[in-house]
Amino acid sequence: LRDQELKSIDDLNERAFKSEDVKEGLFSELPISKRTLDGLTEAKYVELTEIQRKTIPLALAKKDVMGAAKTGSGKTLAFLIPVLEVLYREKWTRMDGLGGLIISPTRELAVQIFNVLCKIGKKHSFSAGLIIGGKNVEEERERISRMNILICTPGRLLQHMDQAAEFDCSGLRILVLDEADRILDMGFQKTINAIIANIPKDRQTLLFSATQSNSVKELARLSLKQQENISVHDAE
Ligand code: ADP
Ligand code: MG
Repeated sequence: LRDQELKSIDDLNERAFKSEDVKEGLFSELPISKRTLDGLTEAKYVELTEIQRKTIPLALAKKDVMGAAKTGSGKTLAFLIPVLEVLYREKWTRMDGLGGLIISPTRELAVQIFNVLCKIGKKHSFSAGLIIGGKNVEEERERISRMNILICTPGRLLQHMDQAAEFDCSGLRILVLDEADRILDMGFQKTINAIIANIPKDRQTLLFSATQSNSVKELARLSLKQQENISVHDAE
């Protein structure tokens, strides 16, 4: 990274912890890198949705966040922007291994997340991959070792953790549990518990869900630390 960019990283770090207000509700007001902002702009994202406005500043300030908002409210960017920014501010490089792990209940949703990540993250130099099964395990395993950001389905991720002694997630900075209610509805509670037991405790965690059932709250209790709870309801 150039000197200029390193200086702006220090500035972003400082601004993120001041938790500035996003007054106009624009992505350009957030303390995020030019790289991410350019990716967002090219993808025509200009104004934050409510769940994004309430959760992204907290996540950028390294807080654990549990965010609930209905389907279609924009939860994907609410966690992808912090994943990119947390690694960027740590000056993460391809050599630094796995830094961000995103868990999604289904392959289809994982692919959607991956596509959004490729769009908004295209100015970054991180490597990103999908671990969703349906492919050769060996091939997937080889890929895992080269990725900075992985988007996974729970069963397949745990399979790799169990089978490969070399699965290294010791540097993991940020974990995302997306659609946590669906993950639990699909019976992945134990799988998620086992995954969480395998990853570093010293990490940031973001949990997103369409609903806040008791089982989602229990999962949050087990996976997050002193989290901020953000819930967006329809204005009636
Ligand atoms: P959720 O995960 O809450 O169901 P998504 O993240 O899938 O919602 O977003 C739903 C739709 O809204 C997507 O088509 C996405 O591109 C769009 N979207 C998300 N955030 C914004 C935004 N800030 N401005 C405009 N469109 C957005
Ligand atoms: Mg979603």
